[in-house]
Amino acid sequence: MQDLQKGAILVLSGPSGAGKSTIIQAASEEIGEYYFSISTTTRSPRAGEEDGKDYFFVTKESFEEDIKAGNFLEYAQVHGNYYGTSLKPVREALEEGKLVLFDIDVQGHRLVREKMNEITTSAFITPPTLNELETRLRARCTDEILAVGEYDFIIINDTIDDAAKKFVIVAKAARLKQSQEDEEKFITHWLG
Ligand code: 5GP
Repeated sequence: MQDLQKGAILVLSGPSGAGKSTIIQAASEEIGEYYFSISTTTRSPRAGEEDGKDYFFVTKESFEEDIKAGNFLEYAQVHGNYYGTSLKPVREALEEGKLVLFDIDVQGHRLVREKMNEITTSAFITPPTLNELETRLRARCTDEILAVGEYDFIIINDTIDDAAKKFVIVAKAARLKQSQEDEEKFITHWLG
């Protein structure tokens, strides 16, 4: 009954500097085929960031046109800039049965849950100590810390090795997640 071709979504959130991208990289060989969703943003590129690799950097006007056209699966304003996930590449990756990774904020996580809850798993990645996290978050966005409880998993990035191992387990769990509909089909099948 398991549809192995079916894709799944794994949302990762956490303050910038929690080490999300380092963890993904460290785990990349062990999590199977995945697609990392490249977000679109109106913020300016930072030193070393590349258009089309880290983000698609666009103007506010262009972003707002995409909103009107319904091109985003989700979008939000973070620290005064727009950030959004384009629907099309995500849909294609899901159709190919890939695990789709999102690095999005807590607002984005809520929106993805609203639209694609059945195939979504989430993890909040924090820096090593809660104190450190609190200091970082208080300075930026207290809402974020309150939202931690909405996530399926919390990964504390104490050592990269350890955090990457935990991430591999979460990624495997995300792939195993079955929709309610599939579970019902499974039960009906076995009950005959
Ligand atoms: P940064 O500007 O430091 O790269 O990202 C700032 C915040 O925006 C991070 O919390 C990041 O997860 C979030 N973010 C990045 N892309 C998206 C997106 O497409 N949607 C949403 N909702 N948040 C995003």
